[in-house]
Amino acid sequence: MEIEVVNPATGEKIAVFAADTRETIAAKYAAARTAQPQWAARPFAERLAVLKNFRDSVEKDIEEAALTMTREVGKPISQSRNELKGLLARFDFFLSKAEKTIARENVLKESGISEEIEHEPLGVIANISAWNYPWFVGSNVYVPALITGNAVLYKPSEFALMSGELMAKYLYESGVPADVFAVIRGKGDAGAALIEQKIDGVFFTGSVATGAKIAEAAAKKFIKVQLELGGKDPAYITEDVDVKAAAESTADGAMYNTGQSCCSVERVYVHENIYDDFVRHFTDTVKSFKSGNVEDNATYVGALTRGKIQLDFLEGQIQDAVKKGGTIVTGGKRAATEKGVFLEPTVVVGANHDMALMREESFGPVIGIMKVKGDAEAQKLMNDTEYGLTAAVYSRAEARARKILSGVNAGSAYINCCDRVSPRLPWSGRGHSGVGLTLSTYGIETFTRPKAWHVKGA
Ligand code: NAD
Repeated sequence: MEIEVVNPATGEKIAVFAADTRETIAAKYAAARTAQPQWAARPFAERLAVLKNFRDSVEKDIEEAALTMTREVGKPISQSRNELKGLLARFDFFLSKAEKTIARENVLKESGISEEIEHEPLGVIANISAWNYPWFVGSNVYVPALITGNAVLYKPSEFALMSGELMAKYLYESGVPADVFAVIRGKGDAGAALIEQKIDGVFFTGSVATGAKIAEAAAKKFIKVQLELGGKDPAYITEDVDVKAAAESTADGAMYNTGQSCCSVERVYVHENIYDDFVRHFTDTVKSFKSGNVEDNATYVGALTRGKIQLDFLEGQIQDAVKKGGTIVTGGKRAATEKGVFLEPTVVVGANHDMALMREESFGPVIGIMKVKGDAEAQKLMNDTEYGLTAAVYSRAEARARKILSGVNAGSAYINCCDRVSPRLPWSGRGHSGVGLTLSTYGIETFTRPKAWHVKGA
């Protein structure tokens, strides 16, 4: 089977790939199984040096990688560059922390007995990835996995195949053996065939629906399953803020990456005392976002990567919101001038929780804003979701914001900021946002399993 890559911003076909079959996937698995012990047996410093080369190749070729990503996923070029520059900081974190994180630890030495913890690699892992931040979500897994001695079967999204090829090219040039990192090309059926192999772990980023299928398929294997899934991330704006600054920050959080971020702001609650003022500033900010040619430095809102399916879905959410009492204050229409698939950045006010817009992940440049009476109501609404990725509170009173967020069921809590990821902090979701984590030192350790040594002198 062939997979066509279509530039979502122009409608132009830009590449064709031959998809892997069950047979080629099984062969790549078998080769990885054979190669992994040799990779793990290499001195740690050697593996680290290889991944350091990879980091340097990406830095050298940022422009090529950025343009490739922009053309295949429709991401504005400045944001593609931002992703790649941000990536370097993540690599530096992994490279500087890995050795200490997985060092053998002696936890007792007395009366002739020594107790030690050793971190062994998991073995051969599957990395099934999404398209929205192809470099971030892929390398959060394969970089620490390779450093810690695993072999990786990497399945890029069918919407980000060209970026996946580039990653492999740089990794091979840097010294990663071809059998230790193999690209699995294909759609969902290729992902499913990958999980059928005797892998030692599956690390998935994508939708809740696919995450559930993967968890089910992996259940009888008793392997590590990590799922980084969607979100419906809330932001609450209290009445004590600089209203314009809070509006600008949350509008950026909602629309950056064309709203196609797992941690995009997806619903906004605003204290009634500042509601009108906030809506005005928020709308002004959104109106200032330039949409259109994604290869233009000034463009801020790009194309919908998944094309017409996503456009229909978002229009459905907007129509449902209007039917249930919402008002569109800006946007709401397909951008008529483009050959690709674009939606005008859309703001719906007067939102409520009967609307799909406030309940199901949008993953696009659409946002609902709802008026609330105070902290208790805001906290209740923030928790009225099956998701739990991030949550934000804007307030000058840090203690107040901390108190609200302590009672919100989310993996990340933001005060006066949003849509932010740090290599130093664990990235994890709760509920339908997933299981397990990446990033931070935990996100290095997660690619290892501990062996407990009890050593008694003879
Ligand atoms: P998706 O679930 O459609 O696809 C993800 C990957 O799974 C693709 O590579 C796809 O080919 C593969 N796949 C599809 N069916 C499969 C099956 N049955 N078995 C195995 N693999 C299969 O998701 P997407 O559209 O690529 O990504 C968007 C979603 O990802 C959003 O919900 C977003 O919130 C989420 N996401 C989450 C995070 C996070 O860190 N939590 C980060 C980025 C994206």
